[in-house]
Amino acid sequence: MPDDRYNFAGKKVLIMGLGRFGGGVDCAEFAARAGAEVIVTDSASASQLSDSIEKLKDFTDIEFHLGSHDAADFKQADIIIANPAVPDDNEFLEIARRNNKFITSQINIFFELCPAQIVGITGANGKSTTTALTAHLLRNKSIENVWLSGNIGNQPLLTILDKIKADDLLVLELSSFQLESLGHIAKAPNVSLLTNLTPNHLDRHGTFENYCAAKENIFKYQELNDNCPAVSIFNAEDKIASEWFEKFNKDTGRICISFSSDDVSKEFCDSFALPGRANLSNLAAAIAISRHFDIDDEQIKKSLPEFKPLPHRLEFVAEINGVSWYNDSIATTPQSAIAALEAFSQPKIIIAGGYDKNLPFEELGQKIAAGAKAAVLLGQTASKIASAIKLFPQAGVKVQIVNSLSDAVQSAARLAAPGDVVLLSPACASYDMFENFQHRGQEFTKLVRALNN
Ligand code: ADP
Repeated sequence: MPDDRYNFAGKKVLIMGLGRFGGGVDCAEFAARAGAEVIVTDSASASQLSDSIEKLKDFTDIEFHLGSHDAADFKQADIIIANPAVPDDNEFLEIARRNNKFITSQINIFFELCPAQIVGITGANGKSTTTALTAHLLRNKSIENVWLSGNIGNQPLLTILDKIKADDLLVLELSSFQLESLGHIAKAPNVSLLTNLTPNHLDRHGTFENYCAAKENIFKYQELNDNCPAVSIFNAEDKIASEWFEKFNKDTGRICISFSSDDVSKEFCDSFALPGRANLSNLAAAIAISRHFDIDDEQIKKSLPEFKPLPHRLEFVAEINGVSWYNDSIATTPQSAIAALEAFSQPKIIIAGGYDKNLPFEELGQKIAAGAKAAVLLGQTASKIASAIKLFPQAGVKVQIVNSLSDAVQSAARLAAPGDVVLLSPACASYDMFENFQHRGQEFTKLVRALNN
């Protein structure tokens, strides 16, 4: 029996947080199409949000209250759809709660209304690669439609909702924010996978424990059923994932599976183009899910070479004067930058630094000291990363702090010798200097290509 709270026709729906990543637009369109009276509010200004506003131009009845939030909107609405980036204790959500309003989110609406089975993938790193690869491999199955969505791609959740049939399969990348929100309605995917867990988004979650608790929802709220068990898949090489395997393995009504990059046989590796051990782990994860859906190994091997790597992830840009340049702008955590360093055996110059999410850089500093010949650092975290590297002075790594990406590319070009790899793998988000990681990666690519002229 569908929950009547999700019937938006004739209701006043407030979208809190339009944002620039498509989620707010998806929610506003969904509510407008459902026949709601829609108000969109965001603390950012109309000029900051111009791309998102432009996407809603056909919905002429939508009202925009931008630049700040107004308590009156939260008192007057029937339903508030909050952006996942808004913390639960936000003062305006508190007002809505005190006024008994129904607060929901894009992901919660989707999980309440989706008629098909859901495969959900989360983790600190490797989510997008694993999710895209899993969807690619599952398309071998005789399922009519395998949808790739969630925190990835260009098929927003609520836009596809109407088109999903009961026999389809959803492959979703799920962020910690989305999982925190799903915890409020005690929902989780039918098949859930954790790639790994290391500190991330501590600026929003406060502590690593809170971040882990949000991620754990992907297993905690799976529906346990002896006839059709929930499937929970864990990375055997990750400390927390292994602990959770032990913990959840005790449940009846649940199948627990673990995967490891060591289990990936050479034939699979030979068919797979992505560099580095971390990507082998992502491959092992995608194979574990595919096998669960009875895709045979021959078929997996056949379709691996057709997988198109996602941009900005260890993406080869150019070879200039014998130096290979790679764009790994997506690397927004120390762990992903470490994975990128480990993917290459050549001498490396890393370009790192960016927006400060309060993540620890000690291990990254140690890995740069042990594995790189130079580090060119920029952005808010430049001096923090420099201090972490300088804890290992005996390594003799050259450290340069620069003011712009353009200066970083110039410095790296001067430091590099033929045979070296230069890697933009920032270990940090980009918001201190760029719109997003794509923008940073595109700028880097342009600057590198310009070196050739
Ligand atoms: P996410 O969606 O979790 O950000 P991506 O698949 O987009 O993950 O990869 C982001 C970056 O993280 C990659 O460029 C790579 O450097 C690194 N990475 C990818 N997979 C892993 C992994 N399994 N473990 C650690 N780092 C990884």
